[in-house]
Amino acid sequence: MEPIDADKEILPFAPTYARLAALYEATRTLHASLDLAEMLNRVMEAAVRLVGAERGFIMLHERWREPRVGAVHNLNPGIVTKKEELSFVLARQVQETGQSILKPDPSDDSPAPRTIMIAPLRAQDEIFGTVYVDRDLHGGQFTADDLALFEAFTDQAVIVFYNAKTQKQIMYQFMASISSELRTPLTAVKGYADLLQLGKIGPINDEQTRCLNIISQSVYRTLLLLSDIIDLTRIEVRPYLELASIDLATYLEEVLTNFRPRIEAKGQIVTLSLLNLPPVRADNWSLTKILTKLIDNAYKYTPAQGTIVVSAEVRNSFVYIALSDTGIGINSEDQPYIFEKFYRARNKIVQEQEGDGIGLYIAKRLVEYLGGEIGLESEEGKGSTFWFTLPIATTDQRG
Ligand code: ADP
Repeated sequence: MEPIDADKEILPFAPTYARLAALYEATRTLHASLDLAEMLNRVMEAAVRLVGAERGFIMLHERWREPRVGAVHNLNPGIVTKKEELSFVLARQVQETGQSILKPDPSDDSPAPRTIMIAPLRAQDEIFGTVYVDRDLHGGQFTADDLALFEAFTDQAVIVFYNAKTQKQIMYQFMASISSELRTPLTAVKGYADLLQLGKIGPINDEQTRCLNIISQSVYRTLLLLSDIIDLTRIEVRPYLELASIDLATYLEEVLTNFRPRIEAKGQIVTLSLLNLPPVRADNWSLTKILTKLIDNAYKYTPAQGTIVVSAEVRNSFVYIALSDTGIGINSEDQPYIFEKFYRARNKIVQEQEGDGIGLYIAKRLVEYLGGEIGLESEEGKGSTFWFTLPIATTDQRG
């Protein structure tokens, strides 16, 4: 038998991830009709055409986030979400009361420059969005009949969203079940390969040791991938967030304690710098995932003897958490794509590390679910700083 080069045998995982990324892109095209942004745009355009409006927007009201703009027609998305804008105030009112608005209404004698209709997007008992349209009064005032037509249309739109969401959930749940099913036999394969490799089942020669190493490493990488896919499916379906007031300093210390042995074994130094932190409003599962992904990356992409600094401070009504490393850095061409699903920098050192390019995507989605932002500053060859923000818990949430 030919001698086996373990590195060569294990590395072909990089093309596996590239193939997965390509498959994901192709499948996404097939499922274009399930793309929420695309669907919202279509609903917006159809609503505007149906009632002869000039402008419009769809506002999405999600449970854990500030309202956000899903689609616009002839309006600036930045202006639509300004809290003092009449359109925003009215959209919030529709979301809170569940009642459509027609303006000016027949009893309104104050002159208004535009005529407006807003209707809720309601699935079961939850209002997850509002559709706003308006036009100049010179185009004629919207009537009660227009409003009835508009509401009938938004009810149909809800069915389309709901079907798409259900199909998407079925697809993700299917992926999650397959991944979980595969995990059990693979864990057994890895366990037995490790036992054989340790000589616990009988003596083995060098060649056999190398073969077992390849089996063990390959299975380990597959298990990591499956675990990321399970996390991914959980957040794509919509994570269950249990928001609580969390003492970040204690939390960060705990997460770092778990990592410290691995980091120190690589000869890296890790320090924590925290400035008087108030509690944040977050969810335990999500926060652990975000921190673990970022610290694991700092560890993986920083050579031995490098330094990792975790810091946190208050910035306005948020806590700003930063993880800086003296690692390989990310070049400016890769940076814009780094939070995309399956994206890995085109760098030999990266390709040699275990990874699938899902971690940062998961971290970004979770930070956004928690109402914060995430970003990075990095210079190739010098290091990277990944930062994210979390809202400070208000006094009555601290309980
Ligand atoms: P992976 O499993 O590949 O680490 P991630 O989604 O966590 O996936 O990260 C995506 C890519 O971002 C990585 O493949 C790597 O190219 C780059 N990256 C992430 N963190 C760092 C870091 N601290 N230093 C350098 N590159 C990083």
